[in-house]
Amino acid sequence: MALTGLQIYKLLPKTNCKECGFPTCLAFAMKLAAKQAELSACPYVSEEAKVQLEEAAAPPIRLITVSSDGYKVEAGNETVLFRHEKTFYHRPGLFVRVRDTQPVAEIETLVQQVRDYAVDYVGLSLTLDGIAVEAASGDPATYAAAVKRAMGAGRPLILLAPDPRMARAGLEAAAGTHPLLWSATAANWQPLAELAKAYKASLVVRGDGDLSALAGLTEQIKAAGMEDLVLDPGPRDPLGTLTAFVQIRRLALKQNLRALGYPLIAFPGEGVNGPQDEPLLAAQHIAKYAGFVVLDHFTPAAAYSLLVWRQNLFTDPQKPIQVEPGIYEINNPGPEAPVMVTTNFSITYFAVANEVESSGHPGWLLVADAEGMSVLTAWAAGKFDAEKIAKTVKGTGIESKVKHRKVIIPGHVAVLSGELEEELPGWQILVGPREAVDLPGFLKLWSPN
Ligand code: SF4
Repeated sequence: MALTGLQIYKLLPKTNCKECGFPTCLAFAMKLAAKQAELSACPYVSEEAKVQLEEAAAPPIRLITVSSDGYKVEAGNETVLFRHEKTFYHRPGLFVRVRDTQPVAEIETLVQQVRDYAVDYVGLSLTLDGIAVEAASGDPATYAAAVKRAMGAGRPLILLAPDPRMARAGLEAAAGTHPLLWSATAANWQPLAELAKAYKASLVVRGDGDLSALAGLTEQIKAAGMEDLVLDPGPRDPLGTLTAFVQIRRLALKQNLRALGYPLIAFPGEGVNGPQDEPLLAAQHIAKYAGFVVLDHFTPAAAYSLLVWRQNLFTDPQKPIQVEPGIYEINNPGPEAPVMVTTNFSITYFAVANEVESSGHPGWLLVADAEGMSVLTAWAAGKFDAEKIAKTVKGTGIESKVKHRKVIIPGHVAVLSGELEEELPGWQILVGPREAVDLPGFLKLWSPN
């Protein structure tokens, strides 16, 4: 259970020496309770107090990392049920399943697709995270060969190999990486936990829908020294998984039940009637509350929607995605090309830039630092006013790049044109369209004279 500031204070030295950077031990305790400071900042905490404080400060959901070739997927460490309470931190890893019984060419094609697929979304490159290799053949050599092929993606692996013989073959083939091994049950957990420890893998613990039994099993495995665990509570259907995943998240966060304080893994393809429904259930799992999602099918359309959905959910709404303020050249502009101004909110920038680019018209796009807000929001907040626009025009050095003296402002801030004329003597202020989609038509009428 998390400690309050006062409970933490009682464990601190109470000398108010200020070495932690805070004026008093009490102030430091309050920051620790709010998770805005690190215990290591105080050099004088006793070992005994350290043990108590570290135990209390441990995240309610353990952080699990799987990795390969420098690419890592982290799951866990979440602290809230709802995104409006605070940010969701670790995006669930999206893995695509291959079976070792599939023809070699089919496996290699899928591995290549997972490796190469990328979505360019508001300046971010969104990609899939890895391959889940299922030991369906029953033959360790065949499985090891499939794992080796999957490693060609250069992404983390999930080894779906509950049989210890197959698990060993897969782990040996994946040596040098940190995979996730699925799955330990009451029947096989001892050999699998030993293997996971020996090969530095994380281990999925699988239940049959009974959360008490699952909690008992994780405690047994933890007592045996294996702590990097992920939970597969058992159900596969939409309602069963939603119920189990929400209950586990609530128990971990609200009841501080450490035995269920681990990330979750989901298999949406096993809970729906056909491939067309898999993305729907995967979207549910991304929202509530999977840390790893294993997809049975790869299609660019499904991958695109899931990657964008995930990105939007796991973006801090208080920190808008921004582009660097400055001057952007579109379609090789020359000295006669129009000069347009917008804000540095990514979605605004890309909406404007894409429209200008697809119009084929060259242009200079000046991006003002509006703290990542869209045009109207920034204007209402006083972050995109005449002074800011004039500062952007002068600061970017656009005057030396164009022969004309015309600047196009967004239609939504037409009201600024008079004031802007005063701020930018010698410049003519043109009011552009309100919506980016109308820019191509507007630019057809452009004349530098
Ligand atoms: Fe108190 Fe430790 Fe901070 Fe000194 S460094 S003020 S003892 S918490």
